[in-house]
Amino acid sequence: SHLVNQIAAGEVVERPASVVKELIENSLDAGCTRIEIDVEQGGVKRLRVRDDGGGIPREQLALALARHATSKVVDLADLEAVATLGFRGEALPSIASVSRLTLTSRAALSGADEGEGMAWEVTVGADGQIEPLRPAAHPPGTSVEIRDLFFNVPARRKFLRTEKTEFDHLEQVVRRIALARPDIGFQLRHNGRTVVDLAATGDDAARLDARLKRLLGNDFVEQSLPLEETAVDLRLHGWVMRPAFSRSQADQQFFYVNGRMVRDKLVSHAVRQAFSDVLHHGRHPAYLLFLELPARLVDVNVHPAKHEVRFREGRQVHDFIFRVLRRCLGLGTL
Ligand code: ADP
Ligand code: MG
Repeated sequence: SHLVNQIAAGEVVERPASVVKELIENSLDAGCTRIEIDVEQGGVKRLRVRDDGGGIPREQLALALARHATSKVVDLADLEAVATLGFRGEALPSIASVSRLTLTSRAALSGADEGEGMAWEVTVGADGQIEPLRPAAHPPGTSVEIRDLFFNVPARRKFLRTEKTEFDHLEQVVRRIALARPDIGFQLRHNGRTVVDLAATGDDAARLDARLKRLLGNDFVEQSLPLEETAVDLRLHGWVMRPAFSRSQADQQFFYVNGRMVRDKLVSHAVRQAFSDVLHHGRHPAYLLFLELPARLVDVNVHPAKHEVRFREGRQVHDFIFRVLRRCLGLGTL
């Protein structure tokens, strides 16, 4: 129901940045190569995410907006094997319940579909009703346009900050995802101005190098140590800035678990401890690290917005991160 969706939205949709995160994750799940994000007034007035992914066939457009209709989670066991970024089937319905949402898509030709090769569009009305499909013009892929976020939830609207703050949060989300996906092109525009423009040209190494330079700076690329280590179930790879070049700001700390950026106490603690005796006072480690582990060893469903994770073997993960970093820094255990 409309109300259930709005309640779910309270958990999933905090601000424009959380909307953008969900929409980008959907685009990535759809196998796109490029994502264009176009927002007005910090994303509150208008927010559009367009991709060149597989698209949504006409007969599934309305379903995509129906709560849990698309949930990939059939039972609890499935939660342990979540491979795609989205899995709850509630982002689009939740967002639609607190905004004016239009979904436009052109699915890849499959031959059997009615209206193949055509784009179709569906809008969710202010009352939560899904309006009839209309033909539209759209290249292969999908656009989701959100207008007037929280227009019908004054309590939520009140918690939004200034246009600049909301946009800063949104931009951070785009940058974090772009760091982990150098294979995808990203463009972000705010009030008609291009703020982020990241191509994905060249081979893997060239893409990665360009992405790191653009998002973390030449310093990071030149002064960081690469690392890559595997234990039984755990693999950690990425880069840490040499301690001598550490920064007075903690703004270059990126940690991903199975491709999702997380802010996790256990992880930060392990990293901080690894650097504890080599950093000057008031300096922060800078790092871009990716931890991969089997889905059954990590619960990504702790929080609907998915910033937090829970490791099944927390101690083991902590010690692994610590040990790998110490080795990378050329240091023994404390
Ligand atoms: P979830 O991602 O958890 O499945 P969402 O509510 O985010 O749920 O999306 C619902 C469904 O709509 C997805 O499962 C997918 O089938 C479809 N969908 C959403 N966005 C896109 C997109 N950009 N491209 C293709 N399909 C999409
Ligand atoms: Mg999703």
